[in-house]
Amino acid sequence: MKETSPAASAEPAARPVPSGPPLAPGAERYLSLDLANSDLAFPGGRDEDLLGTPESAREWLVTRELAPAQAVLYDVCAGRLRALRDAVRALLSARVEEVVAPAEAVRAVNAALTSAPSAALLHWDGERGPYRAQAHPIDQIVNHAIAVLAADAADLLTAPDAARLTPCGATPCRRFLVRTHASRQWCSTRCGDRVRAARAYARRTQGKAD
Ligand SMILES: [Zn+2]
Repeated sequence: MKETSPAASAEPAARPVPSGPPLAPGAERYLSLDLANSDLAFPGGRDEDLLGTPESAREWLVTRELAPAQAVLYDVCAGRLRALRDAVRALLSARVEEVVAPAEAVRAVNAALTSAPSAALLHWDGERGPYRAQAHPIDQIVNHAIAVLAADAADLLTAPDAARLTPCGATPCRRFLVRTHASRQWCSTRCGDRVRAARAYARRTQGKAD
């Protein structure tokens, strides 16, 4: 009898489950939208920044396959990701409002886009004289991640999908989405349910006041 080949019985590698709540429409296709949506706001004034600490930033990158699982990030790495997120959010907001984006945000995304050099750069110090060295491995990982995210932001902003970008209509949510149909206003069923519940409550209390 023929043995099952090892290839056929091998389990496919499990895709990592993204950290954070279910992705907003569009964020499954655009990593930059996912990045923009990583600073969460919930009712009752509760916030959660998925890039708030080096450990949470590491998890965010690893589950998006932008860093190897064993990567160790530092404060400065998480700070660079948050800075890129601020720039991407400014660009998405400008696109939604149909205004020219702040030049600073465009510069920040362009700097990130070109931040993945593979070249060993020239260094020069008094003891060693001139020498070439690669960036620190963690810097290389973060440079690569922000270059991918920035390129994705540039793609999203110039794609037809950009015309369907919208901020979630459920306060205090700060997420953006790419509308799947014209009437879609919310990033998630949770946000939609919250707005519908608030409207129903408003109608009930209005009814009592009449
Ligand atoms: Zn929302």
